[in-house]
Amino acid sequence: MMARSPGIKLRRQQPDWLFGNISPARATHQTVFARGCENLHSIQSLIFRKMHLNRFHDYSWRGKMKIVNPSKMQIRKSNHPIRFIIFMFGISCLIAKEPDIHRTELIQLKLTKKQHNELTAMKIEFATGLLDSLALAVVTEAELAVIEERGYAVEKIMHRDCEVDLFKRALYGEAMTLDPIYHTYSEVVDELKTLVQKHPGLIKVEKIGRTSQGGRDIRAAKISDHVNTSEDEPAILFSGAIHSDEVAGVEICMALINHLLSRYGEDQQVTGWVDEYEIWLVPVINVDGHYVVTSGIDPRWRKNTRDNNSNGILYEKGDGIDLNRNFSYNWAHGGSSDSSSSRYRGEAPFSETECAAVRDLVLEQQFLLSVTYHSQGEVIYFPWDWRGRKAPDDKLLRRIANGLAGSIRTLKGDTTYAAHYGAGTVGQTYPWMYGAAGTLDFVVETGKGRHIFPPGDLKKIVESNLQGAFYMLEQMEGPGLIGRITDARTGKPLSAEVWLPDIDTDDVHRRSSNKEFGRYRRLLEPGRYRLIISKDGYQTLILKNIEIKKSGWTTLDIRLKKD
Ligand SMILES: [Zn+2]
Repeated sequence: MMARSPGIKLRRQQPDWLFGNISPARATHQTVFARGCENLHSIQSLIFRKMHLNRFHDYSWRGKMKIVNPSKMQIRKSNHPIRFIIFMFGISCLIAKEPDIHRTELIQLKLTKKQHNELTAMKIEFATGLLDSLALAVVTEAELAVIEERGYAVEKIMHRDCEVDLFKRALYGEAMTLDPIYHTYSEVVDELKTLVQKHPGLIKVEKIGRTSQGGRDIRAAKISDHVNTSEDEPAILFSGAIHSDEVAGVEICMALINHLLSRYGEDQQVTGWVDEYEIWLVPVINVDGHYVVTSGIDPRWRKNTRDNNSNGILYEKGDGIDLNRNFSYNWAHGGSSDSSSSRYRGEAPFSETECAAVRDLVLEQQFLLSVTYHSQGEVIYFPWDWRGRKAPDDKLLRRIANGLAGSIRTLKGDTTYAAHYGAGTVGQTYPWMYGAAGTLDFVVETGKGRHIFPPGDLKKIVESNLQGAFYMLEQMEGPGLIGRITDARTGKPLSAEVWLPDIDTDDVHRRSSNKEFGRYRRLLEPGRYRLIISKDGYQTLILKNIEIKKSGWTTLDIRLKKD
């Protein structure tokens, strides 16, 4: 029986993926917060497509159609229920049928923001966002005719029967393949191998899992002194390409690895980080999808490559699971259950081995902080706004998110990234890492206007995002609470629950000290806190007025007595 003081509530018994206990319909309002890199994809959602089709037909039949003001439209009442049923059947057929849209034109538009909004409302498929008044779009001949007729400043770039080719030209550039400045996965693997040979005491590479469809190894690099032993040091995680078309994160991770290794022993700050911390990097989470993007098959590939319809044909439109909707925390309330959606969450939380690999690494290493790189939007998303309810560590999370955003300059260079709350009700990395694992995860949406950037822009994005990574490494210094929990008699390390009742609500799992060292670490805002330490078979300890210093770590070792 667990020793508990009066008034201590038991944690709710509910699976992570249903934690929100709200209907997915209501959750939709929350997922609006989780935008950024999702914007371009949202255009492609099935419902929008259907709306688009209806509108498209309006345009193509322009002249023959009578323009009707929708507000004046009336459905005549019918005394014949059969007629009404036939009418409704006709409507539902119209909605259900989804004929192919044949987009054959790549165009460049010079637009004001207002004009861009107009065209977005017309469901024009933009390949890039609006940047310096320019945007690329992939359209049908009929749409092009409407755009020209309405007097938009349009430049025709390419006509092709193959829609993917149009996107290749739009996103990869004139060569229509990814610029060699970007790493392929085999280049990532080779470079890591070379670095291990060069710095055997500082970096090691581990296989943390295999991809769901292709069975490719997913690799993590660990950088630390005495890298081959697990030391009692705080850990931090950086990861890229969970969305495989958002390739800048891979380059940031690789640049950070190279920076840490090449500056070790020369730069005092870098040396301190490597000596005192365990720095983990997973440059590519979605290895299969990254192959699709880097090999030139499809620059838009975002999900993993799971063959959803099991027809044996890979990389088809509609295949794949959005790995950043497959984490268990509030899984049921985020993403889409429609397998063709770009945000398809999969059949079950952690159904995808890529996500399970990240989960296992996070649970094992108990990272204090994590950065998950995405593109685009020049925005940081952090946990969370959950139907107006903020995260228990809101003040701390907000401070770090704002500091991180403020440390990264935008591509234009005139300002820095912004920080926004992410939704709590979505199966992304940050709600799970924070809510279930106690790791503060920040989504960094790198760059703006597109997912794949020209080489010059990529260099600037990597450079400015290294500053963000350094800011995160600096946060590992605290303030916060640290200590070891041991058995009072034997001195053996204990994995015990460490609860801060002044902060922690039922929205988050309780955190524990690790088995190996009995170590607990928690970043905190300075102030006074109550602390409750409990473990089965031991007397629960309640400590009041624990003061967290303004900077650095406050140490509090704890010896638990048996019942
Ligand atoms: Zn993304």
